[in-house]
Amino acid sequence: MTGITLQDGQADAPSERSTRSYWHREPSNVLLGHRTTTSLPPTADVVVVGSGITGAFAARFLKESDGGDGTEVLMLEAREACWGATGRNGGHCQPNLYVPAPAIAHFEAQTYTFLRDFVVSHDIPCDWTSLQGVHAFYTPDLLARAALRIADLARSHPQLAAGARVVRSADKLADLHIPGAVGAVVQTAAASCWPYKLVSWVLEDLLRRFGAQEQKRKADGVDGTNGRGWFNLQTNTPVDHLQRLGGTDDGYRWMVHTSRGQVAARHVLLACNGYTSRLVSELSDLIVPVRGQVAALLPRAGQDALTHSYVFMGEPPDGPVQDDYLIQRPCGKKEMILGGGRGWGEGKGVGVSADDWIDPVVARYLRRALASSMRLGGGRKKTDGDEDDKEEEMEADYEWTGIMGFSRDGCPWVGEVPAWLGGGDGLWMAAGYTGHGMPQAALCAKAVVDMMTGQGGDGKGDGVGLPDEFRVTKSRVEMARSMDTVREADAKNMFL
Ligand SMILES: Cc1cc2nc3c(=O)[nH]c(=O)nc-3n(C[C@H](O)[C@H](O)[C@H](O)COP(=O)(O)OP(=O)(O)OC[C@H]3O[C@@H](n4cnc5c(N)ncnc54)[C@H](O)[C@@H]3O)c2cc1C
Repeated sequence: MTGITLQDGQADAPSERSTRSYWHREPSNVLLGHRTTTSLPPTADVVVVGSGITGAFAARFLKESDGGDGTEVLMLEAREACWGATGRNGGHCQPNLYVPAPAIAHFEAQTYTFLRDFVVSHDIPCDWTSLQGVHAFYTPDLLARAALRIADLARSHPQLAAGARVVRSADKLADLHIPGAVGAVVQTAAASCWPYKLVSWVLEDLLRRFGAQEQKRKADGVDGTNGRGWFNLQTNTPVDHLQRLGGTDDGYRWMVHTSRGQVAARHVLLACNGYTSRLVSELSDLIVPVRGQVAALLPRAGQDALTHSYVFMGEPPDGPVQDDYLIQRPCGKKEMILGGGRGWGEGKGVGVSADDWIDPVVARYLRRALASSMRLGGGRKKTDGDEDDKEEEMEADYEWTGIMGFSRDGCPWVGEVPAWLGGGDGLWMAAGYTGHGMPQAALCAKAVVDMMTGQGGDGKGDGVGLPDEFRVTKSRVEMARSMDTVREADAKNMFL
């Protein structure tokens, strides 16, 4: 894929071709192949690399925060808009309320509320459905760990703990369609949505409001800003490498190189999650690409409709760890969107940057997994002559893969990338969500924009209560580097 020699663990560039995600089946006509101008602008105030949920919200916050001073924002996307993890995920948005650090739980709850209110207030057609989220446990140890954390939380942060309750009764577990689970946690804040449509709306809105100005400037041959600056999206434009400039009088600190030419930027924001280390190799051991797989399964005739979203977790003695996640689409064929099965995949997908193929073993697992995790009702009655395989396997109308960015200490990295970490003044990142970006990314984008523009309280991103655990500091990097590598930690199921 790449033209360079990659270091050990370094991400490659996004695959040119990719598996077909369910969420891309209704692509935006505005965004497909979009290039606001036929050629790249020579300069920009901010270049955002990546057009997923992080890049889209960062661009929106940048334009909102410029107070009319005309910030020029150029977004460069290697493939089509929102073609990375955000366009390939499981469609869940669920804050994890009982993580060890309450500040993180609080931040996730805030991000969830922000997204929900944003969708409602703009009437965004992305099938946002607020529901309750079930974490079903199939191993007593995992349930006990979750219950202990919730009990601790109830003492220290009762308001957070009120959003999660432990369910152990057999009747209640049966009502939740999980009679085989040893117990569950039910959270009041959760949602399913069509993430590509949410991000498409944000990008289309930016183009509608600020894209035309850039086209006009180009057409007029005017080199300079106008009243409100511009937003320029260039799809199918992979960034090849970044060059730090010695410092120019006009404040351009980075040269962004692409196959279509180069752009001088005052700031560059890396919103490219699992692919971040492709551009900053020093991050190769801190944010590691990990491939995930998802299936859209057709419900059986007469099957019960699901009113919750689900995560299934277990450590079976005779197979790999289970960490699967399920939503049901609210309309159409009501597909069950099931992700997971990573433990069955080649090398668990760790270190893989290519999303251009399906792992057949994982695919088969996903088609069969719900039969053992849930009781869904409906379907044929089993007869003596039935082969187990046919009885248990559901039909998938889409199967696809995507690339996550696993962070060595499990938390995203939000802030300026220091020179000693391969960056320098004006290079920023918000990346490394470890497969859990929907309830984190939008406000991480806000925090990094606040830091970049010196706004939001003291300019440290505190306007949104960014947890200290997410900041880029020397002590955090040293601490993370003293921990297991992502591959080692994943092998010990530390990210569960
Ligand atoms: C299979 C799968 C299932 C998931 N399920 C869930 C879920 O249900 N709930 C949840 O909360 N999270 C889930 N996640 C994680 C979540 O989707 C991510 O954390 C989140 O989407 C990250 O958003 P992002 O914008 O930072 O990155 P992305 O959406 O990956 O966007 C990064 C963009 O950068 C582009 N890019 C990369 N390198 C370059 C370059 N050199 N030049 C130009 N462009 C570049 C990519 O093409 C991509 O479009 C899942 C992820 C995957 C892969």
